[in-house]
Amino acid sequence: MAKATIHYRFQIEQQNFQTRVSEILGKKQQKLWEIQARVDSGKREVHCAKVWAKTFVDTLDQHFRNAVGRMAQEVVSHMSKILTNPGSACEQAIERSFTKRNWRHVVMYAIDPTQYLFMEFHKEWETFKQGLVDRYCQELKNNFGNCLRVAEERMQDLLAGGNLDGVKDLTMNKLSHVLKEVCAELADDSLSAVLCGCLPSFQAAPDWTLNDFGQFVQFASVELRRYRANMRETETTVERRMEAELTRQKSEFWKCISGCPARCPGCGTKCNLEHENHWPERPHECRRHVYPAFNGWQKQDGRKPFLLHCRAKAQWQIARTRPPIEAGGPERYWDNFQAMLEDEHPDWLCPCTRKPLATMEPLEDYEEDCETAPDEIQREIEENRRAWANCKDALLEHFTSMADDPDIPWLEKYKREGGALSREDFASIRDELFAVTPLESLEAMDSMMPLDDPLDESGY
Ligand SMILES: [Zn+2]
Ligand SMILES: [Zn+2]
Ligand SMILES: [Zn+2]
Ligand SMILES: [Zn+2]
Repeated sequence: MAKATIHYRFQIEQQNFQTRVSEILGKKQQKLWEIQARVDSGKREVHCAKVWAKTFVDTLDQHFRNAVGRMAQEVVSHMSKILTNPGSACEQAIERSFTKRNWRHVVMYAIDPTQYLFMEFHKEWETFKQGLVDRYCQELKNNFGNCLRVAEERMQDLLAGGNLDGVKDLTMNKLSHVLKEVCAELADDSLSAVLCGCLPSFQAAPDWTLNDFGQFVQFASVELRRYRANMRETETTVERRMEAELTRQKSEFWKCISGCPARCPGCGTKCNLEHENHWPERPHECRRHVYPAFNGWQKQDGRKPFLLHCRAKAQWQIARTRPPIEAGGPERYWDNFQAMLEDEHPDWLCPCTRKPLATMEPLEDYEEDCETAPDEIQREIEENRRAWANCKDALLEHFTSMADDPDIPWLEKYKREGGALSREDFASIRDELFAVTPLESLEAMDSMMPLDDPLDESGY
């Protein structure tokens, strides 16, 4: 949560910087108009109208930029309530699959836990975002066009009604002030609030007196209509900005909660730690291990799935082989799990003692038939059994060298309730899992970034 906020702030800093750059460019244009307003008294009202309208449109534009930022923050804060950190995200991945008995999700977790986490994150993000986009987008678009139209209409009304005839020294600020009072009466609260917040006010120097209000209204109307004519462009810019900002936030958020992608060399469960490359400061750590069969481990004899908990003693004692690294090379062999870790995965052991962490070391309670195990461990073993019984047919399509073992004593007990996956389910599970990957979804945004056009400013 804290992290998402920091990233978001940084984003705002960047936006502010860009805004400052365009402010400087805008000021140059303003200066030009100011000079013209002073020397060329014949065109005075034209210049005033241009400055007034341009300032109005710029303020509106800034208002909508901020709205886009607020919307992105809304998605981020919703997401950070659900996924607080990589460790809790891992726990939720197990919860949403093994504990909730969602067998398709168990298979996805077994295939690739980080991608499964991304899929869940992506779905949650997109669903919540869609609701917001529908709301904000309509609001943003309507308001931009409406603000310009309403401001023009109200100004025309003031002229026609002669409301400002008696005002001495009518300046641009005084005009804005009267317009704000009129706009405060609008029935549409959000429109009224935006208008009152965005109608321009000027420092003393460029707050010129309007000599001919009729002329000013005529020219300001032309300007406002010209900006409205460019609305289509503005709309797509608003949408594009919103998409770009949201994708950027999504990418940042994913970086914060995806954590370390390493998988336990035994059972394949995901490391719970915050970042990659934390070894040798810290070894990988998983608070919850499953059956090594979910990671494809099979018995040498008969190629049957290895269904003892990753933390059971027998799992640590049994000798292991792995296919050769290069084709034709020797098959690799280790006397036990510890030897394999020391040899191939020292990053799962404490760098000084070369022992597994307390969350990984073998424990009596994880023996399949341990009767003194605490409730939560018994529940964990039951969850593993139930998941294997219902997922194995689909998983055998993934671990193609593994043989079926129909003689497991508890198999029928856990399958009896129905809902078990079949071999045919595998392809659609895999396709759903990889339908969107972080690469496509988060890095494609680079191509849509540089299109942040400023509003049309062609004046003279
Ligand atoms: Zn494990
Ligand atoms: Zn790790
Ligand atoms: Zn490793
Ligand atoms: Zn140590």
